[in-house]
Amino acid sequence: MGTVKIYGCVRLRKLDPVDPLLYNRPMQNDTIAAIATPPGVGGIGVIRVSGSDAFAVVQPLFRQAGGRNANASTIPPSHQLTYGRIVDPGSEDIVDEVLVAFMNAPRTYTREQVVEIQGHGGPLVLQRILRLVLTQGARMANPGEFTLRAFLNGRLDLAQAEAVMDLIDAQTEAGQRLAVQQLSGRVSAQVQEARRAILAVVARIEVSIDFPEDDVPTPQSEELAPLLASAQHHVDTLLAGSQQGRLYRQGLRTVIIGRPNVGKSSLLNALLRSERAIVTPIAGTTRDTIEEVANLRGIPLHLIDTAGITPSSDPIEQIGVQRSRAAAESADIVLLVFDGSEPLNAQDHRVAEELYTMGFGSSADNQAIAQPTAKTIPTALPVGTPRSVIVVINKADCVQRLAIAEVQRMWPEAPCVATSTLTGEGLPALEETVANLVLAGKTLHSASVLVTSTRHQEALRRAAEHLHASFLSLERKLPLDFASIDLRAAYETLGEITGETASDDLLDRIFSEFCIGK
Ligand code: GDP
Repeated sequence: MGTVKIYGCVRLRKLDPVDPLLYNRPMQNDTIAAIATPPGVGGIGVIRVSGSDAFAVVQPLFRQAGGRNANASTIPPSHQLTYGRIVDPGSEDIVDEVLVAFMNAPRTYTREQVVEIQGHGGPLVLQRILRLVLTQGARMANPGEFTLRAFLNGRLDLAQAEAVMDLIDAQTEAGQRLAVQQLSGRVSAQVQEARRAILAVVARIEVSIDFPEDDVPTPQSEELAPLLASAQHHVDTLLAGSQQGRLYRQGLRTVIIGRPNVGKSSLLNALLRSERAIVTPIAGTTRDTIEEVANLRGIPLHLIDTAGITPSSDPIEQIGVQRSRAAAESADIVLLVFDGSEPLNAQDHRVAEELYTMGFGSSADNQAIAQPTAKTIPTALPVGTPRSVIVVINKADCVQRLAIAEVQRMWPEAPCVATSTLTGEGLPALEETVANLVLAGKTLHSASVLVTSTRHQEALRRAAEHLHASFLSLERKLPLDFASIDLRAAYETLGEITGETASDDLLDRIFSEFCIGK
């Protein structure tokens, strides 16, 4: 086992991290290529080539202005755009007019030799250039493989690599800001601080265990407890912000439910108009439930307008009802809409009953709880959290005929907001109510560094459990080995966040979620 000098002048056992540079992946050094811009038509499109042969692969295809080949002696200066043409070397057919950047390692995204070809943004043109690049010996890149290489070559740690995807997928400016902070290494820095604090305690313990001949006195638990408390403080601080962080990244599934004509679609439109999120609409939604993303103080609010959830004998409607129910069942928040201008009717009651059946209710033992879901948007609420119903009494601009007392009797614990989608009255109050429910008064400061990923949150939770166990071992005056085992486990668990101790499987899972070309 290797040794490493980390504590004073004494050598300690190394904590066996997986060295990302030694991460064993076949063909790691071959040259890869992909179209890096999205499919479809655009002003320009970019083909990215990375690997030791990147220059050699592109050179035979590139003719600089004046008809010169980009041979070894005429390779343009590194990191500069050079105008020229891509040709088919067999026929000398001109494929496209391009700008090409040859970039020498290590000052590149992957830290390898990189060439980026900017062509015209038509799918056929780009595919033809890519095919030529592949015939010159490059291999088609896997999803996320450029970023994987940036990680393996030590340019980014794992949390930073994941932030690349978060930044691309960010739906609100708050989400984008948190992704940039993670990309710049601020989350990693805090995780490393926690790891260093843990290492300091491990060091104190292991010095005395491993080198008794050096007369290192056995540390007393009273002496170790404050060090351990400091380590725990770092982990707890990161954990404390993670719930809020996940809300900003994943958003909330908010389902709008009510009988026909109460104003559900109008409410959806009104909430969207007040502040639309950057990404709309979500792909893969059904025709019966409309889903759009609103921006609620930086939280992506995935608003789902359901067709209806009350039983119907019409087979087509039944499909819609099933889909609406499925949407409601996976919701974090339900906006239950009533028409304030009409008395409560049998249809209103049926909707309420359906919600009760689904477990949304007023009493504590009749609360639906957040469950992990296979839906595209996972719940951002912790598993086991009661989900909330907010009663919306719409059409507040009309003469009111609804027996509000009766509605409140049906949903005594649900906040109740009167709105008019016509005049806008009550909409800010509704947004305020949702925000209060999920943020509990916390706001996002521009300097906040928050953990936003479920994976990181899980690792922090496991690390906190190991730290707690080591505290107990100290308290019970068990041999120090016990505390040390848990501290090592906490240290390695935190290393999963930054990637030092991430397994191949984990890396595969993370990078396979990236898009090709990233
Ligand atoms: P849905 O079937 O529940 O989705 O209801 P819609 O959004 O389609 O609205 C039904 C009708 O109510 C439409 O004619 C809307 O213009 C009207 N409506 C919706 N919201 C309001 C409101 O706040 N005030 C008034 N006066 N009419 C509204």
